[in-house]
Formats: sequence, structure tokens, C-alpha cells
Amino acid sequence: HADIAMYRAKESGRDSFQFFTQEMQNLLDARVALEQGLHRALQRNEFVLHFQPQVNLRSGRIVGMEALLRWQSPELGLVPPLQFIPVAEESNLINAIGMWVLDKACATLRAWLDAGLPVVPIAVNVAASQFSDQGMDQLVRATLERHGVEPRLLELELTESLSMENPEASIELMRRLNATGIGMSIDDFGTGYSNLSYLKRFPVHKLKIDQSFTRGLTSDPEDRSIVTAVIRMAHSLGLCAIAEGVETEGQLRVLAAEGCDEIQGYYFSRPLPEQAMVAMLERGLRMDLAPLAPSVRRR
Ligand code: C2E
Ligand code: MG
Ligand code: MG
Ligand code: MG
Repeated sequence: HADIAMYRAKESGRDSFQFFTQEMQNLLDARVALEQGLHRALQRNEFVLHFQPQVNLRSGRIVGMEALLRWQSPELGLVPPLQFIPVAEESNLINAIGMWVLDKACATLRAWLDAGLPVVPIAVNVAASQFSDQGMDQLVRATLERHGVEPRLLELELTESLSMENPEASIELMRRLNATGIGMSIDDFGTGYSNLSYLKRFPVHKLKIDQSFTRGLTSDPEDRSIVTAVIRMAHSLGLCAIAEGVETEGQLRVLAAEGCDEIQGYYFSRPLPEQAMVAMLERGLRMDLAPLAPSVRRR
């Protein structure tokens, strides 16, 4: 991944003006190579989805899962999304990739339903440029119909900044998406520009508390205050609160004590390849709630 890493590093640190150097030529070459690689990845079907379970803190049950994109490149190995999504966004490839993700998530649900598995909703990440397409709701509807999947089994994860780029248009599109019966959540909540007067009008169902706040839960009192406030606010707006990036029992305890509804994170499971996720669904795996017993009694 050396080329990609170099490209990203330079991209973020570049000066406002520079002479054209060999180094810049190399960067450009690396970027072009990456773009071509992503084109080929679509043609050769090299993208894969991994799935990370979302667990309800009262029942311990898996109540949903997030689909997370990876690129299984013959040359580079398994490439994580942060190494190619930014370039895909800049080069407009993200729309085609996003459509592939949506289609694959629905095809996977169909396959699991056909296999008689206990299926839960799959959440799919949506990029800003996908969301600026006002035909997004029709696209979603057509994809669900093509696979014969109920809308309640699909959720879209939007980010705050995405919805703020053009709030009125976003709210319109969200309303139409909401009318299709799918779920919607705000991802990485707290890291964007949270305009609360808009949040009030967003027809979403869930706030996903960003993992940067989860990380400091047991060490940083300010992070704990933020998380507590977000959970309260979610509930008072009638929304479900889910914490991302939960890694430790300590974090789990605090979240349960503060009334967080769901968690997602390495504590329960890393994102899994499809076969491993199927095995987990078949075993009907539940989270062991024993660590929560004391805090639950206190409530
Ligand atoms: P995200 O949507 O906020 O996804 C959560 C990220 O946190 C995932 O990283 C996940 O693997 C990671 N994570 C989950 N639990 C833990 C934990 O306990 N500790 C830590 N340290 N990390 C945890 P991943 O898969 O590398 O994805 C990174 C980002 O790439 C995603 O952040 C999302 O913004 C983007 N992305 C992933 N798939 C897609 C996609 O299909 N389309 C678009 N547009 N973006 C995607
Ligand atoms: Mg997400
Ligand atoms: Mg997130
Ligand atoms: Mg994130």
C-alpha cells in the first residue's frame, strides 16, 4: 500500500503553491494508478463487504449489522476503505461503488433469507455525492425490489456534514427515503457541524456516537459528558443511540449505565467476512450481559 499511503500523506500536507517536481509526478502517477485500480476492481468484482454486528444492550441480541467495504486486490491484498474511498469520492467513482455496495447488501440479504437464516437489517454507508443525487430514493427502491427485500431490512448511514451541504434538499430526499420504509442513521455523530435545528427535522431513526468519544469514555470525563448528553438528546428526540468503537468492558458498563441502546465494536466482534457472519447468525450468538449486572441493578 506504499503508493496509496504516500499519496494520502502528501495530499493532506501539500503547500498552497509548489514547483512541479519529480515527487509530484510520482504522486500523480500513484493517484492515476489507484483510480485505474478502482475501475478494474469494479469490472473484476474485487470489492467485498464485511459485516459488523450491532448489539442491543438490554437483550444482548444482534439487532443489526453494518456493511463495511473492502477491496480484495490481487496486487495489494485486502485494502481498507479509508485508503481508497477518498480517491473514489474525488474521481466520481464513488457513485458506481456505492451502487455496488447497495446492490451487494440487498443480494446478501436475499441469499440469507433464502437460506432461512435469522436475518437482521443491514446498514450501508452513503457518500456525500451519492446523496446529492435526488434520484437516490428511486435507486434504493429499485434495488430492494430487484432482490425482493423488504425496506425495513435496509438502513442508510449518513454523516452530519453530508446532510448539511444542502440541508433543505437533504431533508427532502430523507423524507422520500423515509417514505420507502428504510431506516436512516446519522454516522459519526458529534464530529460534523451539528446544527441541532436541522437535526430536529431530519427523519432519521438513530444517532451513531462517533468512536472518538467512545474511546475516552472511561478516561476522559468530558468524553463521558458528551456521550451522556448525546444519548439523552437522542432519546428526547425519539431516536435510538448506538455507540461505535466499543472495545472494552469498562466502556460497555458506562454506556449501559447511561442508557445507550446499542453498541458496535471490537468488544463484541470485529467486522467479519460473509461466511463468518453467517456462522454467527446461525449460532444465534448473543452478547454475555453478565458484566452489566451491577449497573443494571443500580438503574
Ligand atoms: P464508519 O462508517 O464510521 O465505520 C466504522 C469503522 O470503525 C469501521 O472501519 C470499523 O471497522 C471500525 N471499527 C468498528 N469497531 C471498532 C472498534 O472497536 N475499534 C476501532 N478502533 N475501530 C472499530 P472501516 O471498515 O475501516 O471503515 C472506515 C470508514 O470507511 C467507515 O467509517 C466509513 O466512513 C467508510 N466506509 C466503509 N465502507 C463504506 C462504503 O461502503 N461506502 C462509503 N461511502 N464509505 C464506507
Ligand atoms: Mg458507518
Ligand atoms: Mg462511524
Ligand atoms: Mg468513521
